[in-house]
Amino acid sequence: MSNSSELKARKAAAVANGVGTKGIYAVKAENSEIWDVDGRRFIDFAAGIGVLNTGHRHPKVMAAVAEQAQAFAHTCFHVVSYESYVRLAERLNALAPGDFPKKSIFLSSGAEALENAVKIARYHTKRSAVIAFSGGFHGRTLMTMALTGKVMPYKKGFGPFPAEIYHAEFPLPYRGVSIEQALADLDRLFHSDVDPKSVAAMVIEPVQGEGGFNVAPFEFLRALRKICDDNGIVLIVDEVQGGIARTGKMFSIEHSGVTPDLITVAKGLGGGLPLSGVTGRASIMDSAHAGGLGGTYGGNPLSIAAAHAVLDVIESESLCARATRIGQKMRSHLEQLAKEVPAIGDVRGLGAMVAFELVKDPKTKEPDAAVTAAILAAAEKRGLILLSCGTEANVVRLLAPLTIPDAVLEEGLGILSASVKEACGVESARAVA
Ligand code: PLP
Repeated sequence: MSNSSELKARKAAAVANGVGTKGIYAVKAENSEIWDVDGRRFIDFAAGIGVLNTGHRHPKVMAAVAEQAQAFAHTCFHVVSYESYVRLAERLNALAPGDFPKKSIFLSSGAEALENAVKIARYHTKRSAVIAFSGGFHGRTLMTMALTGKVMPYKKGFGPFPAEIYHAEFPLPYRGVSIEQALADLDRLFHSDVDPKSVAAMVIEPVQGEGGFNVAPFEFLRALRKICDDNGIVLIVDEVQGGIARTGKMFSIEHSGVTPDLITVAKGLGGGLPLSGVTGRASIMDSAHAGGLGGTYGGNPLSIAAAHAVLDVIESESLCARATRIGQKMRSHLEQLAKEVPAIGDVRGLGAMVAFELVKDPKTKEPDAAVTAAILAAAEKRGLILLSCGTEANVVRLLAPLTIPDAVLEEGLGILSASVKEACGVESARAVA
């Protein structure tokens, strides 16, 4: 096995440049820890970008996949179907908010779930326009890039994108965008760009992921629900990053009490295996003709088996409650750290989806992408994997597995503090890990 510097050179020679990597090469992972080819051990606060809510290789998830692999690995649900797919649809239909009949479809990636949600909404409404929000992220296919409200690194150079996609302001209290301003912007859109009666769907993340862990104010979500109801617009809530227990509820929208028409899920649902889905009102989900939806791999049996185990583990290990506790611990740690580090301009999040924003000056709030990158590098040197986010790449997000033991969480937060202080040039009273 090559070491990581050799692998970096081989990667540069063999893999397309557009595939960005950190340069860590894994050999083994267990719950909230990863070991690399150089024998280094890392605490994982990235969880494969919010995928491993149940941790790396949860024994129940692995056992379910192994058992399914003994039976069959692929038939294509359209050709030869299997009960586990139908049962997972039944489970998600029951879990999703809304006291009305629901149906589901399974796919492979988050982007594919969004693509299908838009297809279904368009078919149902016989309208074409879609409204998304600034800072939102919905994937890397052409439609989902069009929906995405963050240019670098996702959209630059890849256009033209599909037509009839409009962006409205997402409320950002820290950046001075109030709920009223965001709603006024939507109103402006309806007067200057698109007739609301031509809009098929509105797509929003209740907590923006790549956009910087911005939590949509519940009042704003309620206002969107009303606008959708008044104008016959399908409300699609993207739970790809915020769903599956991450925020302390199965779906992050549940905090607001708003009932969406369609929900997209992925990441955490498959426990590390590729799986996504759309769940929502049966009357909308059933719009498309038979054969109009699906794909070769959608709802692969191994991924579906993993998802059943993930849902069982969330229940048996009370991972929603655990997400709330992890989030509280992270927030109080960061709020304490912010008192010592003026570059931390904001600490925010919902449940165990927690982030802090780095600024050059707390008064001007000028984003500091350089110090953010320095924090990530310092943490990696000390054995902690972190991710940044935000349209200005100046937010550090924490996405630890919800199964992380308390001692590992504490250790990770200790490394985080030391790394932040080092990168921000703040003297640390603590011993550096
Ligand atoms: N939607 C949200 C909110 C996401 O965070 C992501 C991925 O990060 C996607 C959609 C796209 O998912 P995928 O990368 O599986 O296509």
